[in-house]
Amino acid sequence: MSAPHLIWFRNDLRLGDHAAVAGAARAGPVVALYVLDDEAPGDWRMGAAQRWWLHYSLAALARDLEARGGALLLRRGAAATVVPAVAAEIGAAAVHTLTHYEAWAKVQDAAIAKAVTLKRYHGALLAPPASVLAGSGGRYRIFTPWWRKLQEQMPPARPQPAPEMTFAKAPAGDTIQDWRLLPAKPDWATGFDVWTPGEAGAAARLADFLEVASDYDKGRNLPSQDGSSRLSPHLALGEISIRQVWHAVADAVPAAQAEPYLRELGWRDFASNILDQFPDHGDVPGRAVFDAIAFRDAPADLAAWQRGRTGYPIVDAGMRQLWTIGWMHNRVRMIAASFLVKHLLIDWRVGERWFWDCLVDADMGNNSLGWQWVMGSGVDSSPFNRVFAPVTQSAKFDAAAYIREWVPELANLRDADIHAPWEAEPMMLRAAGVTLGRTYPYPIVGHAEGRARALAAYGAVAG
Ligand SMILES: Cc1cc2nc3c(=O)[nH]c(=O)nc-3n(C[C@H](O)[C@H](O)[C@H](O)COP(=O)(O)OP(=O)(O)OC[C@H]3O[C@@H](n4cnc5c(N)ncnc54)[C@H](O)[C@@H]3O)c2cc1C
Repeated sequence: MSAPHLIWFRNDLRLGDHAAVAGAARAGPVVALYVLDDEAPGDWRMGAAQRWWLHYSLAALARDLEARGGALLLRRGAAATVVPAVAAEIGAAAVHTLTHYEAWAKVQDAAIAKAVTLKRYHGALLAPPASVLAGSGGRYRIFTPWWRKLQEQMPPARPQPAPEMTFAKAPAGDTIQDWRLLPAKPDWATGFDVWTPGEAGAAARLADFLEVASDYDKGRNLPSQDGSSRLSPHLALGEISIRQVWHAVADAVPAAQAEPYLRELGWRDFASNILDQFPDHGDVPGRAVFDAIAFRDAPADLAAWQRGRTGYPIVDAGMRQLWTIGWMHNRVRMIAASFLVKHLLIDWRVGERWFWDCLVDADMGNNSLGWQWVMGSGVDSSPFNRVFAPVTQSAKFDAAAYIREWVPELANLRDADIHAPWEAEPMMLRAAGVTLGRTYPYPIVGHAEGRARALAAYGAVAG
């Protein structure tokens, strides 16, 4: 029998449309490996919510491999050491993996390539970031021209089904239980049962979304509706490929209706394009002046934001949704993030880390881009003086039902009152069983006051 080929899975936990799986399967018998590496990412090791997801996603991948006669080998440690060690243990002819663009992934790859034959494949994105170049040969930092240029490579190639595989005997490894990825006491993840991690779960989610995809442009901004695809956690761990999603939507929906969705998929690629150029984008503002802002150290305000007790129903609904199901609607992410960095003047990196720990879809590129965009500190950002007005946004995007779901103590308020309960007539509050300061907090900061403080802090350093 020929020497085995090692498939090294990372955030690409699928068998279908996976170029490294296909490449290894073509080359010979395979051994499938996943390494839990908490060392290489340092502070950016996988957060708690995503570990919950990882547990079930790996279990699903293991089942899919077992159904084909194989197994998933689990090892823990620095991948730069573990991958070559496993390759040596099985006498692998080569290691096959998809290319990822986090700074630590690049370091891992460079180290591993010195020790073994490392075959890296494109497949995590629509296009390799360095392949989308301006006429001058330079890289793009602004979305719109980048998106236009990307079109020269779109549509992406059609997705490929999972290949036929033969398996070499895998050595012994850890069990998924050894890794204790699930919360124990307390089990804060009971609300996560709305999700079905794994490749089959991702395909089912996509199929559900296709039913409403033609209304995406209208529905995506309305938190009270299920108008977006909710594919982000599946995409973050690569349980479905980006081109599977692209083609499914492009095939199902007329081009004009598909475009807004395909463009959002583009933002995911664009975020990796930025991360590829700015490896420390999670920690360093794209524009240096933002490092000089006198952010507040305000633990009580931070705790109120984290727990959904700011007194702004739309912010609180979002933060509680995040805590309960590990996901938050995109419109509300922008409002809640803006509230933290502008109204509360707390460092964007503090919010970014909270999201990192709480999101099942945590993604280094998307999360850092989202926070830097809201802060106004990124290379392609909303201007700093754009301060999302939570009450106006809440009413404009019709968030009443969303608030009722996530802030049930306000459920009996009328639509007219629910976005800003402190402005409601006392009689209306009484009738709805709301006592401000007791059943629901007063706003921890006024909109005008918070906005003015943020603009002053920025003005002091912007010159
Ligand atoms: C402060 C902040 C933090 C964020 N952190 C993350 C994160 O850690 N992980 C993450 O996947 N997204 C993040 N986003 C982007 C966006 O909110 C989510 O991708 C989206 O809400 C996921 O829901 P969906 O799958 O229903 O999206 P849909 O609207 O159905 O979009 C489809 C896919 O396109 C991609 N996408 C959509 N919007 C964006 C965007 N603005 N930037 C990059 N990719 C996008 C996602 O992969 C998403 O799954 C963040 C946004 C903000 C404002």
